[in-house]
Amino acid sequence: MQYVSTRATPASQPQQFSSILLGGLAPDGGLYLPAAYPQVTGAELDAWRKLPYADLAYEILRKFATDIPDADLKALTAKTYTPAAYRNVREGESAADITPLRVLEQDGDKTLILQALSNGPTLAFKDMAMQLLGNLFEYTLAKEDAELNIFGATSGDTGSAAEYAMRGKKGIRVFMLSPHQKMSAFQSAQMFSLQDPNIFNIAVEGVFDDCQDMVKAVSNDLRFKAMQKIGTVNSINWARVVAQVVYYFRGYLAATTDNGQKVSFTVPSGNFGNICAGHIARMMGLPIDKLVAATNENDVLDEFFRTGVYRVRKSAETYHTSSPSMDISKASNFERFVFDLVGRDPARVGVLFHKVETEGGFDLSGKPGSDGDEWTQVARYGFLSGRSTHKDRVATIRDVQDDYGITIDTHTADGVKVAREHMAPGVPMIVLETALAAKFNETILEALGMDAERPAGFEDIESLPQKFVVMKADVAAMKAYIAANTGL
Ligand SMILES: *Cc1c(COP(=O)(O)O)cnc(C)c1O
Repeated sequence: MQYVSTRATPASQPQQFSSILLGGLAPDGGLYLPAAYPQVTGAELDAWRKLPYADLAYEILRKFATDIPDADLKALTAKTYTPAAYRNVREGESAADITPLRVLEQDGDKTLILQALSNGPTLAFKDMAMQLLGNLFEYTLAKEDAELNIFGATSGDTGSAAEYAMRGKKGIRVFMLSPHQKMSAFQSAQMFSLQDPNIFNIAVEGVFDDCQDMVKAVSNDLRFKAMQKIGTVNSINWARVVAQVVYYFRGYLAATTDNGQKVSFTVPSGNFGNICAGHIARMMGLPIDKLVAATNENDVLDEFFRTGVYRVRKSAETYHTSSPSMDISKASNFERFVFDLVGRDPARVGVLFHKVETEGGFDLSGKPGSDGDEWTQVARYGFLSGRSTHKDRVATIRDVQDDYGITIDTHTADGVKVAREHMAPGVPMIVLETALAAKFNETILEALGMDAERPAGFEDIESLPQKFVVMKADVAAMKAYIAANTGL
């Protein structure tokens, strides 16, 4: 399997899975995608219906990671998707399912299902991909006797998922910037209580944007980046996207009994990574009817799917909401879908995303003066969307508690709210649960007047000893800190 860039030029080289694993953007500025999506047959789906999650992950990943020997890939998925790692299940759910499904409502031929993706070590769905990434990185680095220093910025979920995936891994260090005293007490405790010598938490005196600017400044120094072997694990990483394809298959197979049945998914969306994996599953032939993007007040994606206008937001227009992991101003994985939407024409993708940089967006509505009319084809790909606000979130958390007796987190609440607007007879709707409520307790308290339940082992996380340094937003000091700790 070869990978091509969404902005490929005649000079761009197709790549193998292992060679894009540790990288980010393609040299031409695009994102990698398979040259053609592997197809899944009905016979394969039948055979996969009863597979444990790890084996299903192996079957799907081997179609994409064709340059990793099968036996090695099987060992990596078996090591990653274990009931011990995904143990934070609700009562009545089995950790062996890894992503257990729960039917919330069955009303005539309308079925609403929750698929729990957040039972891993950091209680958010980012563990599903990041845990695999940790093992893949360690495997690849060991083969080449190489080292990698992961450098990133987080406002919460990504940083902790990366640290729990990379802790103790040979050849890997993590330097993670977060805005000093701006994360929830639970989120900082999750990260800062890690005592592993290869994890470096840096609390920056500033806001998240200052952290991100520092990452950009350091990454733009190509000499430093090469010398310090710096890499990233941000959401455009292809291996993260592909690991997420697996749970769409799992959700489909667990919710149906034969392949004549279709299902829809509603996905709480920010950077379009999660739902992009759903798009890929659908392109592989998984019988998905609709893919519904749910946004919060930061509704860049909802606006595109409703109108054909993609308009990124400025920092000042990006709201801080109670579903903070969806507070994005531009959706970094969206370009992958646009590549397919415009008929896989890299020159056209280059023009459109250049326009995003220079003019803040593009318009594919087909209206006079627009940049094209491809948005009129969006329905062919099954996409729908909706938007949810703080008020909706609070009301939905209350409803779900009253009606089904479980507490959902704020991001999942955005999903449930939007899913209810797109239910269709005879097509089960699966909402992806992207975090557990304990992570966003402030809003749970507001909605329910009581604290969210904490999984075993998280009871006293805030009182554990913490290891982190506080630094000013000073690029030179940051570089010195990294160099001192890598010894390179
Ligand atoms: C990251 C995250 C999202 C958004 O996922 P994308 O892949 O960026 O669309 C939604 N909910 C939670 C809890 C997250 O951590």
